[in-house]
Amino acid sequence: MQTLNLDLEYLEKTFEISRNGDVKRAARRKTSIEKSVVSILENVGENPDREGLLRTPDRVARMYAELTEGYHTDPLKLINNALFEVDYNEMVVVKDIEFSSLCEHHMLPFLGKAHVAYIPNGKVVGLSKIPRIVDMFAKRLQVQERMTRQVADFINEVLQPQGVAVVIEGVHMCMVMRGVKKANAGMVTRTFLGQFEDNRDFRAEFLEHIRS
Ligand SMILES: [Zn+2]
Repeated sequence: MQTLNLDLEYLEKTFEISRNGDVKRAARRKTSIEKSVVSILENVGENPDREGLLRTPDRVARMYAELTEGYHTDPLKLINNALFEVDYNEMVVVKDIEFSSLCEHHMLPFLGKAHVAYIPNGKVVGLSKIPRIVDMFAKRLQVQERMTRQVADFINEVLQPQGVAVVIEGVHMCMVMRGVKKANAGMVTRTFLGQFEDNRDFRAEFLEHIRS
């Protein structure tokens, strides 16, 4: 096992990660979100003082802290002690990773499954870390295309593999609940890097894994 020299500053800047979750600032942010929720309640025609709504601003503020915790994930903690040097060059596939995220256009959920593969180039990461990498990018305000790309770029950056493939299947509540109201508002996004981009056999093998 090996602790790799990750360029944290680069990772933080590239992937908009801040490791420093300041407690005082977190408290201020929470109060501020609570006030905003009161204002929304009033302006949709509700009475924020009625019993059922009294604790709603507090609940919503806590919820946003949880649903956006990807902004404060420490990538070093996330993958350190889980990077291994190995002499293994076969495709690694982790499929059906369940995720939920918030679309940045409406702040409504989109959720579904992510499928990730990479072809190592001397380094692998513990399998349980792949879902946590997906989560780091899901727990933010997102668009599915960017999330797909970020998961692929992050793995590419950290493992420097021969190739990375990410396919995400998502259902967007902003399409299910409003506007055109398509109940099956499914969307598939893909990113193929390195060997997966260059070699259609690798792509086919990965897509076959997902289907089976
Ligand atoms: Zn949306």
